[in-house]
This record gives sequence, structure tokens and C-alpha cells, in this order.
Amino acid sequence: MKILIIDDNPDDLEVAKSRLARECSEIVCADGGVAGLEAARRERPDLILLDLDMPDLSGFDVCRALKADPDLCMIPVLFLSGTGAAEEKVKGLDLGAVDYVTKPFDAFELRARVRAALRTKHLQDLLIEHAHIDPLTGLPNRRALKERLQREWARVQRYEGQLSFIMADIDNFKRINDAYGHHVGDLMLQKVANAIAESCRQIDLPSRFGGDEFAIVVPGETVSGAAHLAERCREAVAKVVVTVAADALRTTASFGVADAADADSPEELLQQADEALYRAKNAGRNQVECHEDHAAAPGGHG
Ligand code: GH3
Ligand code: MG
Repeated sequence: MKILIIDDNPDDLEVAKSRLARECSEIVCADGGVAGLEAARRERPDLILLDLDMPDLSGFDVCRALKADPDLCMIPVLFLSGTGAAEEKVKGLDLGAVDYVTKPFDAFELRARVRAALRTKHLQDLLIEHAHIDPLTGLPNRRALKERLQREWARVQRYEGQLSFIMADIDNFKRINDAYGHHVGDLMLQKVANAIAESCRQIDLPSRFGGDEFAIVVPGETVSGAAHLAERCREAVAKVVVTVAADALRTTASFGVADAADADSPEELLQQADEALYRAKNAGRNQVECHEDHAAAPGGHG
């Protein structure tokens, strides 16, 4: 785990660093509040040790800035201070810090408090990871998808660039459940999820949207690039086989594609992909349809 120590006093930095060398795999130091905030953004540490009394930005100001930043607010902060005054401790904890250590450090106490903070951070990371993964397929879930879509949407608004979105739904999936039982349906969902995930590039985000629906956030592509990806997924899903006794079960899926350039919000983008998916279903299933502002996808089959 990585620790960032923010302190304007080089001697205190050295002392803290040497005492913590055994507690974590990497220690990064920053000389003052401004440099500390930059280092936090760059390094994404697992714990920040933050001096209170710094000339450029106080520890309280740094902590406020960290807690206001959605990318940094989950990093635990442990305050370091020379005074140990109760009001300071209360203020620091109320600003969102997890703990407080008074200088000069007792080496054993400092290590123990850092270990405790890192243990809690590790559990917090596990909880966040579990909250974002669909247990059946191992794919990111709808919550993860919505968060990523929001981030990509904000990125496109700020820096421009392309962003597309794909919705997919397995065709006649109820029949598999009805004929072979839920556990076979589950197996099919897992294999379809794999087929979709393996068709994606590293930067795409495939997810299980819910039930037999999947969604893919496709950064850096217009609708035609995303339609190619959807077509690759369609072909991969059509090759999936689940063997039950003597039966080799196959399935297909329908896909709807939309481009962020045609939508005013992430919700509208999602709705446009859903409408295109609905048209793919109505047109006979096992095909890719694009939001109607755009040309049809390459090579879809009815
Ligand atoms: P369509 O081609 O119109 O999509 O037909 P469909 O039969 O696939 O209909 P729909 O998509 O509405 O049905 C989805 C079904 O997926 C309904 C539900 O019983 C089943 N399902 C949802 N979640 C799970 C799951 O976790 N496991 C299994 N085995 N089935 C699920
Ligand atoms: Mg379906």
C-alpha cells in the first residue's frame, strides 16, 4: 500500500518516512499543502499523513480540498500536529480525517495508527469493489456502468472527443429458463457475458445492466465504430454453446447503439440505445440497430 506524507518540515518528513518504511510498500513525500494536493491527484495513495501547520495551505484546507474532490475523497487522512490541542483534533476529525497523531511521534503508536488506517482502507476498497461487480457474471454491474458513463460524459463535455453506448439483450431468454431451468439460464448468462467482454477493447466498459441485458460504454468511438464492436459481440454471442445432456444450446442477442453527440444527457444516450435495441428486437432479433440519426450497423442479420 502507498502512503503520502505531506509536511513542510524536511526533518519531520524524514522521521515519519523512516518510521513507516516497514508498514507499506511505497512512501511518497510532499513539501507543503499545494504540492501535497498535486501528489494526491498524481499518486492516488491509500493513506495521507497530513501536517496541520503549513505556510502555503493549512492541513485543514488540504483536507477540505481532498474531501470535496470525488476522485480523492475516499483516501483516509491522518493528521499530524505539534500541539495536540483538543479543538484541533475535533476539527480535523469533523473535516473527515480518520485519526490524529501528535508530534514528536512515538514510533510504535504512529505505526499502529497507520496499520489500523490501512486495514480500514483495505476493507473499504473491498466493499467498493463488491458493490460494483455482478456476482453471477463477474462483470461490472449497473452501478459501475452508470458511474463510468457519468465520468466519460463529463470528459467528453470538457475535452471533446467521441463517446458511444451499446445496449444488448439476449433473445428469447425466457425459453431457456423455462425449458432447462434457471441454473442453465445462469450458465448461458455467464457465457454470454464472457463473449461480450472478450469482444471489447481494454478501454470499453462492458457490464451486466440487469437480467439478460448488457451494456457497453464505448469511449473514443462514434456510432459507426461502436456498431462494429456491437457486431463483433453479436457474432461472439451467436457462437456460445451450453451443453445440457445431449443438447447443445445456442442463443443470440440484439443490440442498440447510440452516440453521445446526439444526446443531451447520459440518460438520453441510454434511452436512445434502448430504443435502437427495441427496433432490433422488432426487426427480428439477432441484429444491431443504431439510433435513427445514424446509418444502420454493418452486417446485421435478421
Ligand atoms: P426478448 O427476445 O424479447 O428479450 O425475450 P426474452 O425471453 O429474453 O424476454 P426478456 O428479455 O424480457 O426476459 C428476460 C428474462 O431473463 C426474464 C427473467 O426470468 C430472466 N432472468 C433475469 N435475470 C436472470 C438471472 O439472473 N438468471 C436467470 N437464469 N434468468 C434471469
Ligand atoms: Mg431478452
